[in-house]
Amino acid sequence: MFLKGKTAIVTGSTSGIGLAYAKALAAEGAQVMINGFGDAADIEKERAGLEATSGKALYDAADMTKPDEIAAMVQRCHDELGGPDIVIANAGIQHVAKIEDFPPEKFEAIIKINMASAWYLYRAAVPFMKAAKWGRVISTASAHSLVASPNKTAYVMAKHGIAGLTKTLALEVATDGITVNCISPGYVWTPLVEKQIPDTMASRGLTREQVVNDVLLDAQPTKEFVTVEQVASLAVYLCRDEAKSITGANLSMDGGWTAA
Ligand code: NAD
Repeated sequence: MFLKGKTAIVTGSTSGIGLAYAKALAAEGAQVMINGFGDAADIEKERAGLEATSGKALYDAADMTKPDEIAAMVQRCHDELGGPDIVIANAGIQHVAKIEDFPPEKFEAIIKINMASAWYLYRAAVPFMKAAKWGRVISTASAHSLVASPNKTAYVMAKHGIAGLTKTLALEVATDGITVNCISPGYVWTPLVEKQIPDTMASRGLTREQVVNDVLLDAQPTKEFVTVEQVASLAVYLCRDEAKSITGANLSMDGGWTAA
């Protein structure tokens, strides 16, 4: 329980990787503020589960396309839980289409949710971390922060932006006891991946099996999906004192994808 006394905000934590981060941090004693969309009863069940694990847990419905709601979420965490000591920008959406067919509103949403929201989250949280002389800033980037795939212009742009934000902010806060890193998973089996299968089938004219085996797992030499628990355990490690010299890093967890 090395995170007892610390608080964490995880955006997009009502499902998938974000929920796994929240559970893993709570298992180490952190008090967690979760965020994201979904069924109210399901969210309350997850919040209550976190509270049972590590004490008071909160849900905040801030929309990651709205900078004022992001700032208010950070302030609410400070007022009601303390900190925040750990912030994880994880919320994300995907849309798969050729650039000429890509709806501008989807492009704007991906840039806001997957990239700009992290900047607003960190802008609001860093002053509290500087005051505490301790902080952990973690983003879920992607293998797509390092390499590209066709028909994902907005997503690849946004994730490369996260990699740049990570490096720059790490330098700015290097002497403040704050580390800034991003984790770059390959394909992790979550609703985000499941939902893009029909679009990839349509845009590439493939069957479901072909998308899973020839598009998704084709990129991953291990031929296995990464699990949400594996990603979350790396985030927990980054919160340890032993990890204090890891900063500005883009940490791949992609079954060898970006080694190829
Ligand atoms: P997911 O769909 O399971 O979870 C996405 C979360 O973001 C949900 O909680 C959702 O409610 C939330 N969200 C969406 N729009 C939001 C908004 N406007 N405001 C607040 N929250 C919002 O997906 P996931 O696979 O767990 O993805 C989490 C992160 O991991 C994303 O940034 C994604 O790009 C990244 N990632 C995923 C994979 C993968 O293969 N699943 C691989 C690499 C990176």
